[in-house]
Amino acid sequence: FFGNEEHKIVIVGLDNAGKTTILYQFLMNEVVHTSPTIGSNVEEVVWRNIHFIMWDLGGQQSLRAAWSTYYTNTEFVIVVIDSTDRERLMVIREELYKMLSNDELSKAGVLIYANKQDLKGSMNASEISRQLDLTSIKQQQWHIQSCCALTGEGFRSNRDTSPDASE
Ligand code: GDP
Repeated sequence: FFGNEEHKIVIVGLDNAGKTTILYQFLMNEVVHTSPTIGSNVEEVVWRNIHFIMWDLGGQQSLRAAWSTYYTNTEFVIVVIDSTDRERLMVIREELYKMLSNDELSKAGVLIYANKQDLKGSMNASEISRQLDLTSIKQQQWHIQSCCALTGEGFRSNRDTSPDASE
């Protein structure tokens, strides 16, 4: 990822899921260039040669057509889930499958973060995986990772010590 070519990662999730907090886990506190004006509710952050494009899913049906224009050349899609938000998990499910059916994303890797594992009553990765029916994703490679974006648990090398690593 640190060669000369540009890379593109799309980060999506419902509002309040923890997208911004997770983005900053990746940026490791470096100062970054942001262009908040590339579209309404769409934010782009460039870090080294990686373009992170982030937006909120759900709620703005009229913007969906515009989102697909951001999918071109996307290598990874990161879906951030608030693991305590049971009510809206089905919204994520619907949006996820709509998104993954887009031709531009047929070769993208899909990483799902089951965020906010520190909160009481959060669903674990296997429950979320079941509810989202992730095994039905055949076209893309996918992985679900539980995490706590606030502490950094679930990112980088501490992954193996996360509470449900033995599942
Ligand atoms: P976004 O709307 O998806 O960008 O969400 P933000 O990154 O702004 O996070 C929404 C709220 O959730 C903020 O108050 C964060 O501090 C909080 N938050 C994010 N990740 C976690 C987490 O892992 N645990 C807890 N307890 N709170 C979190």
